[in-house]
Amino acid sequence: MQTNFTPEQLLDPQMRESEQILRTCVHCGFCTATCPTYVLLGDELDSPRGRIYLMKDMLEGGKPATGEVVKHIDRCLSCLSCMTTCPSGVNYMHLVDHARAHIEKTYRRPPAERLLRKVLATVLPRPGLFRATLALARAGRFAAPLLRHLPQGSRLVAMLALAPKVPPSRPVAAAERVARPQGVRKGRVALLAGCAQTVLAPEINAAATRLLTRHGFEVVSARGEGCCGALVHHLGREEQALDFARRNIDAWTAEIEGEGLDAIAITASGCGTTVKDYGFMLRDDRHYRAKAERISALTRDISEIIGMLDLPEAKPRDLVVAYHSACSMQHGQKIVTGPKSLLKRLGFVVKDPAEGHLCCGSAGTYNILQPEISTPLRDRKVANLEATRAEVIATGNVGCMTQIAQASAIPIVHTVELVDWATGGPKPPALAHPPA
Ligand code: SF4
Ligand code: SF4
Repeated sequence: MQTNFTPEQLLDPQMRESEQILRTCVHCGFCTATCPTYVLLGDELDSPRGRIYLMKDMLEGGKPATGEVVKHIDRCLSCLSCMTTCPSGVNYMHLVDHARAHIEKTYRRPPAERLLRKVLATVLPRPGLFRATLALARAGRFAAPLLRHLPQGSRLVAMLALAPKVPPSRPVAAAERVARPQGVRKGRVALLAGCAQTVLAPEINAAATRLLTRHGFEVVSARGEGCCGALVHHLGREEQALDFARRNIDAWTAEIEGEGLDAIAITASGCGTTVKDYGFMLRDDRHYRAKAERISALTRDISEIIGMLDLPEAKPRDLVVAYHSACSMQHGQKIVTGPKSLLKRLGFVVKDPAEGHLCCGSAGTYNILQPEISTPLRDRKVANLEATRAEVIATGNVGCMTQIAQASAIPIVHTVELVDWATGGPKPPALAHPPA
């Protein structure tokens, strides 16, 4: 694609990067067929190619974002399906991240929307605040019909619907900063506790810790680590995201320089995609660039680490699992067959749902901010998963688990919970106490 940035504009490293990305797009439109919003809405401006034109026009002209551009960029899930499909290697992720930051700086949203986005950016990264908000949301469910009439009402209702019907369990063994390995120590891994997942599904990291320690790994929760920054990054709050990244980098660097780390393990693929990108995000920060690159290079999705363990071949077991590949797993991190192979090796019968490349509509805060698109995507995903007639759904991202659980009666678990169970751990709570 031909671009017309001025030499002055290209002095800005971020603009230079975006210009390079724009130049790789050859307008072929292959990406449109696999874009969930285009599939659903059928509007070229809600396709990757259409959005690329909008972003080019906005950035090249040095213009503030218009309401029209914001509408179509906000509708993008950042699912990155287009990056998997694109034959030309267009890095849509870095381009849309730049566009979102530009929107945040140049566009004034209506007051109620600004407030909602501020609340999300404040509450979600802080587990204590998030836990308290969930309790309020459960209590406030009865008010949903009234809320619909307020500005941003449909979004408030979507937020209430996401709150689990039963209070999330307390963090499992959160006090244990270091979990010692069984037997000889073979390695040392930092496990990201993160933010929302510690509140919504603490059993995931508990399973990962049991599994890793059983296989000789010491598992540490680095002092000072927290939200990876993905949630606010996708809201265009660049500085806040970079602050979260720097804090985590400091926490993990202290561990590396202390007792050492063989890997940083992440059990939420949405977070993993972002941490693997810290090196890029901080490329212009001379104090953090090298440290960020080292952290990104050490980061692994938990399925990648499990894939290196010496797991036994198991006998076939009588449990049919539908594997839902989170977008951040398959498109963001390009981890496609690994988790399924693990489950098959452990004897599970694994089914692939139709349209596995399409997003479930969760996408960070998307299911709150864009319920009109998120809900049909969720229902389409659930229909495809249920058509497999599986007894359990497995995935690697807590956002997808929350989203799918809203509409499906099939229990949903994290892949690591099944692997833990199959290798000596307890039955996952969602299977031991399936939804009524
Ligand atoms: S990231 Fe997903 S929603 Fe956004 S343009 Fe690409 S395929 Fe479409
Ligand atoms: S597939 Fe790639 S090159 Fe083709 S229009 Fe989409 S982004 Fe551009």
